[in-house]
Amino acid sequence: MTNFVLFGKPGAGKGTQAAFLKTKYNLVHISTGDLFRYNIKNETELGTLAKSFMDRGDLVPDQVTIDMLEAEVDRNPQAHGFIFDGFPRTESQAAALDVFLAIKEMNITATVALEADDDILVARLLERGKSSGRTDDQDESKIRNRFEEYNQKTAPLKKYYEGQNKFHSINGIGSIEEITERLTQLIDRL
Ligand code: AMP
Repeated sequence: MTNFVLFGKPGAGKGTQAAFLKTKYNLVHISTGDLFRYNIKNETELGTLAKSFMDRGDLVPDQVTIDMLEAEVDRNPQAHGFIFDGFPRTESQAAALDVFLAIKEMNITATVALEADDDILVARLLERGKSSGRTDDQDESKIRNRFEEYNQKTAPLKKYYEGQNKFHSINGIGSIEEITERLTQLIDRL
């Protein structure tokens, strides 16, 4: 089984690249952001809980997120592997994921961070916000808060996965195709 984690600040292109990787490597793509948005759209209890955090650009509490992620993995028992997009975002999520996968005799194969400058990402997100309807993409202060959350809580995961020899990063600036090429070259060398 091959399981990848895609890191990167909001707007770095995780979702776009995951869509290519899932086809190329026959993986199931799990985006916790998409799962939360699905729950919000369907007005579930989980959606109501997540909405206030997401609207502010804050992270949703760990346990809620971990439970949702684990349920989604369990819904795909036939999977050849997973691409985790937007998860883990904190050390406790990363530790929970390791424990959860170990129980299933699975593990993380590698993690890849898509690197890009904040100013480029803000411009991308504001542009995306015009068509996506995502309110968290339409307000620069919310976007900057999401970056702050990333810097404080997610960036330390670099050390966590470096400690396991599983951290990689690539330049996330360029055309979609160029970045896909960088990613697949890296993955094929693993
Ligand atoms: P994304 O679509 O990955 O940019 O996520 C959108 C929002 O969903 C984030 O700003 C958080 O509020 C929430 N979210 C997504 N994934 C997580 C996670 N792993 N932990 C906590 N909150 C998350």
